Amino acid sequence: MKLYNSLSKEVEDFKPINQESVSMYCCGPTAYHFQQIGNWRTFSLSDFLYRTLKFNDFNVDYIMNITDVGHLFEEGRDDSGEDKVEKAAEKEGKTAKEIIEFYTKDFLNGYKSLNLMEPRKFTKASEYIDPQIDLLVTLEEKGYTYQTSDGIYFDTAKFKDYGNLSGLSIESVKEGARIDPNPEKKNPTDFALWKFSPQGKQRQQEWQSPWGVGFPGWHLECSAMALNELGETIDIHVGGEDLKMIHHQNEIAQSECATGKSFVNYWVHGAFLTVDGGKMSKSEGNFYTVDDIEKKGFSAMDLRYLFMTAHYRTPLNFTWEALQNAHNSLLKIYDIVGSYEQNPEAEVSEKYLKRFKDKIGDDLNLPEALAIVWELLKSSLSEASRLNTFMKMDEVLGLDIQEHIGYEVPEEVENLAKMRMEYRKNGIWDKADVIRKQISELGYVLEDVEDNKYKIKKRL
Ligand code: AMP
Ligand code: ZN
Repeated sequence: MKLYNSLSKEVEDFKPINQESVSMYCCGPTAYHFQQIGNWRTFSLSDFLYRTLKFNDFNVDYIMNITDVGHLFEEGRDDSGEDKVEKAAEKEGKTAKEIIEFYTKDFLNGYKSLNLMEPRKFTKASEYIDPQIDLLVTLEEKGYTYQTSDGIYFDTAKFKDYGNLSGLSIESVKEGARIDPNPEKKNPTDFALWKFSPQGKQRQQEWQSPWGVGFPGWHLECSAMALNELGETIDIHVGGEDLKMIHHQNEIAQSECATGKSFVNYWVHGAFLTVDGGKMSKSEGNFYTVDDIEKKGFSAMDLRYLFMTAHYRTPLNFTWEALQNAHNSLLKIYDIVGSYEQNPEAEVSEKYLKRFKDKIGDDLNLPEALAIVWELLKSSLSEASRLNTFMKMDEVLGLDIQEHIGYEVPEEVENLAKMRMEYRKNGIWDKADVIRKQISELGYVLEDVEDNKYKIKKRL
């Protein structure tokens, strides 16, 4: 299996640390807003990768976090600005706890409707405060931190590899830096590990620490959770490409300075989803959620199919037309498999399966893997063979094919169909048509095939 590694900037053979079990961490949502379809593209990438590893017989220990504290506003300046969760609470007139619960629920609902496989654990940042403090203590003991008036900071100049993932050296950031919001920082790339609660303002989420009451920084959270759950060196770390420059670079800095070991062997970053050719934004009215697409008569599975039509490292532009095409293709697939004869004993085509496996194993080339699915469905193999082979592939695709096969046509519908055929044979077309409608109302479709034969399908 080959994977593109953002650290080496090369497609590499995937070699896990331990052949028995692969450890994998994905940066999950921040629970302060409805998840938009771009977030879902990244989480789906993680799901496709997880499924592909399992398909290749790896045991995968998979963790995804839910950020519920410490993620601060202001792009590119992750240690300034306000806490996203606390700000949302203020804006919506709710408590931070209510905000977290509400948006975590939204996330988990979407997760289910996109048929994403659950990780071993969704780790919540607020439940890992002790490991975060421990990590900070280690960094402090090793001399990587310093204190300012608003928190404890990581001194990026002390990590010689800083910039190994982002490609941004401290010097280049210095040159390009705008007015720094925090003049107490030694380097523009330094970031907060722990922030003090503001004077005279009671935060809803804050904890005691050796440095005073406050809360952890977002970068520290991910390092602490990953190290705590998966060990000092993990195989794969996934996230959207926007996280590479700062968040992930900072995760590397903290983790490697604390443990003295390499933190992640393969960094996998997904390209962004754009809408109508641009960035999704609430003010442009094109910030879409799964709910929005369902209101237009599409399903989350249509979205899942759409994600597969582009390679994860190329940007995908969302349009309603593209979603409509994905929807049509998926309906067609369900229609085809619904009409197939079944036989659990029928042979799984090793030839098609191997070609499919080669494609997904080639840095997750899902568009080409999908093309093989279509080829299989049009092949001259028996229906049952096609079906059994497709079901195996669906372990990766997650289109829930199982749900669309094997329906039993009720006796009532069978009898009506027989009656209609008698009318047709006798040229009584109007009565035959009435019966066709009756069958349709019962949720089935009659399809006439040659020689007075017919097929009964479930209406989609
Ligand atoms: P957030 O909830 O903003 O912390 O984002 C959660 C995940 O979604 C992160 O891995 C982001 O990189 C990713 N993400 C955010 N916007 C997009 C987008 N438009 N396309 C793809 N991934 C995105
Ligand atoms: Zn993270």
